[in-house]
Amino acid sequence: MSEVSPHSQPILRPPAALGVIGEGQLGRMFLQAAQRMGYEAGVLSAKESSPAGQVAHWSVMGAPDDLAALRQLAARAQAITVEFENVSAPALRWLARQGKLVRPGWKTLWISQNRLREKEFLQRYQIPHAPWRSVRTMADLGGLSDGLGHPLILKTAASGYDGKGQIRVERAQDVESAWSRLGRVACVAEGWVEFAAEISVVVARGADGMAVTYPPGLNHHERHILDSTVMPAPVGPIVALEAQELALGVAEALGTVGVLTVEFFLTVDGRLLVNEIAPRPHNSGHLTIEAALTSQFEQQVRALCGLPLGGTDLVSPAAMVNLLGDLWADGEPDWEAAFRADSGVKLHLYGKQTPAAGRKMGHMTVLDPDAETALARARAARRALTSGHRRGREV
Ligand code: ATP
Ligand code: MG
Repeated sequence: MSEVSPHSQPILRPPAALGVIGEGQLGRMFLQAAQRMGYEAGVLSAKESSPAGQVAHWSVMGAPDDLAALRQLAARAQAITVEFENVSAPALRWLARQGKLVRPGWKTLWISQNRLREKEFLQRYQIPHAPWRSVRTMADLGGLSDGLGHPLILKTAASGYDGKGQIRVERAQDVESAWSRLGRVACVAEGWVEFAAEISVVVARGADGMAVTYPPGLNHHERHILDSTVMPAPVGPIVALEAQELALGVAEALGTVGVLTVEFFLTVDGRLLVNEIAPRPHNSGHLTIEAALTSQFEQQVRALCGLPLGGTDLVSPAAMVNLLGDLWADGEPDWEAAFRADSGVKLHLYGKQTPAAGRKMGHMTVLDPDAETALARARAARRALTSGHRRGREV
């Protein structure tokens, strides 16, 4: 069977069986949204007790590119989505050929899972982005310093996340050793961007091409890992609109059906540059669960099922802080202390059994009429988690 055109898709009504490939927290929150709407929602996962597996109505065990597991998934689910970008694109194409609804489609994944293809895509569609060069061979290292200046960043083309697979290179003579440390694999070399802020826009796009966006979120990273998001980002209405239009343009150019997130740099001279495209809900959109009329995960369900998308208005400004495994360094965080500190705190834990430094274990959201106050309250609640610990620390 050939891949069906998105316009002739049926609407999948509850209790249709929906499947998500991937076992992490994004899969978990997709499943929770789908189940709330009455779908029979399950997971293809490689691990027995995973964040997504723990809440799934049904599970298929296996790697996302394992043909036997994919066959079982195709037998079980009527529609399939993904929770991370490094799902094999041929696997998704195969599932679509079995007549399954697969959203986002394999082409969106194919481009967004590889930084070289992503940059080529941005260039082709004249979507603003940082200056870059491809690095595939030793010879490509030669002109980098002249072309991009220093510092520059070398990023592996495939499978990087949370700043992994990236090296900032300060001097021309260090380029070669940096590339060696990355294993001499295909890379993107990027010019350093002096940014005033990092923002992101979550887009949902339906099979009919109708698309909606949330207001931009302002993202703050610590050690290359997202630490907090504030929505709406305090960037003014014009920059916010520009970011939303650019994000819609990306989803349109990719022909994405589903949820997609565009990360931007807002440069010190006021330009918006696309940093990355994530073909899925995003950590910066977690606060839409409480703060928006429709959460990013419900939009993923709606787009997958061919339903009209939900409203994206915020019911309140909000802030989200991530809870990394570092908070467990001196024992279990004191959840009651956070609730005592602030009755508006919403706790999300992902069911991960082993806390590790830098590992995303959960997040907390606070709504407040003033976005900055929301962030201050969320941070204070997070500090309260460890304030009773012998060596309390902020992460
Ligand atoms: P994540 O999974 O958290 O999105 P990632 O590993 O996919 O991260 P990037 O988003 O490319 O990687 O980079 C991580 C962070 O490093 C960025 O959010 C930004 O803070 C910083 N960074 C990346 N590229 C540049 C650049 N060209 N100039 C300045 N800072 C950069
Ligand atoms: Mg990123």
